[in-house]
Order: sequence, then C-alpha cells, then structure tokens
Amino acid sequence: MSKFVDKEMTCNICGHICQVTILTATTTEGSADLDFRPPEKRRSAMPLWVHKCELCGAVLSVYETTPNVGQEFIASNKYQTCAGIGGLSENGKKFVKIALIYEQAGQMKKAGNYFLNAAWCCDDEGMDVNAKLCREEALRCWNEMGRGELNNREMPEMQVKILDTLRRSGNFKEARAFAKCMDTSNEQMQQIVAFEVSKAVLKDKSCYTLADAVMK
Ligand SMILES: [Zn+2]
Repeated sequence: MSKFVDKEMTCNICGHICQVTILTATTTEGSADLDFRPPEKRRSAMPLWVHKCELCGAVLSVYETTPNVGQEFIASNKYQTCAGIGGLSENGKKFVKIALIYEQAGQMKKAGNYFLNAAWCCDDEGMDVNAKLCREEALRCWNEMGRGELNNREMPEMQVKILDTLRRSGNFKEARAFAKCMDTSNEQMQQIVAFEVSKAVLKDKSCYTLADAVMK
C-alpha cells in the first residue's frame, strides 16, 4: 500500500510556497531495471519526485534542497528550451530542467541521474530519439563527474548504470569497451556485466531488469 503526504516547500529560487505531494511508503516488490529504474509502485510515483514552481518555473526536488542557480539561469534560453531538446512531455521537461539546474551547479552525478530520469519518461512515451538524446546527456554529465561526487560504496551501481545507459543508447562498442574496464570480484556484478556484454554483442538496446541478469 502506498502512502502519500502533502507538504509545503519553499521555492529556493523565488521563495514561492509550493504544495507538493511526497510518497512516503510503498511496497518494494519487483526487480529494478539494470539502470536502477525502480519497479512499480515507486516507478509510477516518478512525476512526484520533482515539482515545478508555479511562479518562476524552477524545478525542485521534493527530497532535498535543490541548488540555487539564480533567477537569471531559470529565465535563460537554455533552461526554458530544455537545452534545445524539443518535443518532450511535461514530465520529460521537468526532469531535463532539474538536470540542467544540477549541471549549472556543477553537481554532475545528479545532473546525469536526472537526465536518465528524463530518458525513462521518453521511453514510456515511445519517444526513442529523445530517450537516446537524454541518455547521451546523462553519459556526458557522468563523464564530467568530480572525484568528490562519488564514494566507493556508490561505484558499482554507477558503473552498472553507465554500462546499461551506453547499451540502451545504442553505443554498443563503447559499452563493450567500458565492460572490459570493470574489474570486479563480486559474482553478481560479474553476471550483470556478462549479461550486458551479451546484449551489446547482439546490438540489443531493450530494457532488462536486474533479475533478468542475475542467475538464481
Ligand atoms: Zn519559484
């Protein structure tokens, strides 16, 4: 059973009081995808992860304080046009915009993660070209990640996410090269990497879950 609460959040750009809905509890059934997209029900609550301020148009995370990049950036052409990615849905736009805010603030890991969230929206809408664009933006951001942005504990998950994003954006050669550099002694990780490589060899960019990749 999913639980939601309503709360007030102040827009960190303009100070407007926004009403947001937060998912506080849900079932953990099902397997996440290989890029860690959560299973239902958490997945269906995705539009609630971010909120667009009704007054200034800044997109904020409902879970943490979003960096203040200033009203000028929110008014900029780059932000307003989603950096030129046209034809996005309202949800897709929100995730691209928050990605641009984190990128502007130099927080490249989170910027990449939000671009990936935008790609998931595009997947659901069958917008393959935009999904690829958003995945490539995610890869670009992760590539520019600073040393301090990722701790050792997060490394395996990030590596799998990058590998899956390379394959799913059709960068099969790069996915295979990246897999070669992933030196892991963890058996589950080895299974995931082998699975990804087998799909990359077949030029298969379909979506698979962690459960598909890890043998029981
Ligand atoms: Zn605002």
